Amino acid sequence: MATSTERKIRALAAVKSPACVGIDLAGVEHRETGVALLRDGRLELLTSAWTDEEILRLAALAGRRGTVAVNAPLTRPMGRCCLDDDCPCRQDPGTRSRQLERELARMRVPTLATALIKVLARRGERIAAALRRSGREPLEVYPFATLKLLGLPWRGKRTPEGRRAIHQGLRPLVPGLRRPGASEHQLDAVVCALTAHLHRKRLTRTVGLAEEGLMVIPDIEIFALEYERDPSGRGLRAVWKRRRRRRE
Ligand SMILES: [Zn+2]
Repeated sequence: MATSTERKIRALAAVKSPACVGIDLAGVEHRETGVALLRDGRLELLTSAWTDEEILRLAALAGRRGTVAVNAPLTRPMGRCCLDDDCPCRQDPGTRSRQLERELARMRVPTLATALIKVLARRGERIAAALRRSGREPLEVYPFATLKLLGLPWRGKRTPEGRRAIHQGLRPLVPGLRRPGASEHQLDAVVCALTAHLHRKRLTRTVGLAEEGLMVIPDIEIFALEYERDPSGRGLRAVWKRRRRRRE
């Protein structure tokens, strides 16, 4: 890791107030995992990590009362002891996906079933278990769902133009975000951290089954996203306007 990033991480580790860490988890250690840290909604760190150890060290920056949100399946479909195709725990239909994936499909937010992304799901489960051992219950999030539900640009994250559009769309929502050259995984990590921030502000809901696995998504029924001129005079900033009291 670059020395300046290392210095920043050490400085952040000394801060006591809770933060939101977003992790766009790669399936394997030799692929880039994006990591973003927001404190009070402001971006304080945007970087990449590779090994489980690096990822867990960055997740710990959330602090004891902080929130960690991960873009990866963190649980298995109910009844599955593993995700191996040749294990008797696999029975079609119904054991390839989780309830949360089926609910998202009904909301026109397509996902890949957990069993189809099993390399990522296995790592997700491993990282989630390590986070729980350190006293942090991670949130499962899905940047595509968050962007789509918030009405932000989401197309073309594999191209520089697409990433610029996503970055531009996120800027009013994430003060401190000024990284037009950010990778697709770093941008997804920002969206993960933003979802964790909305969760702390009680502007989210869950899909799925508690006994199987839940995913946190923005609850667009309880707030509207509005924009106003930034006090600095440059650009816009987002305002979360609550529509009504949260349903019980
Ligand atoms: Zn099995």
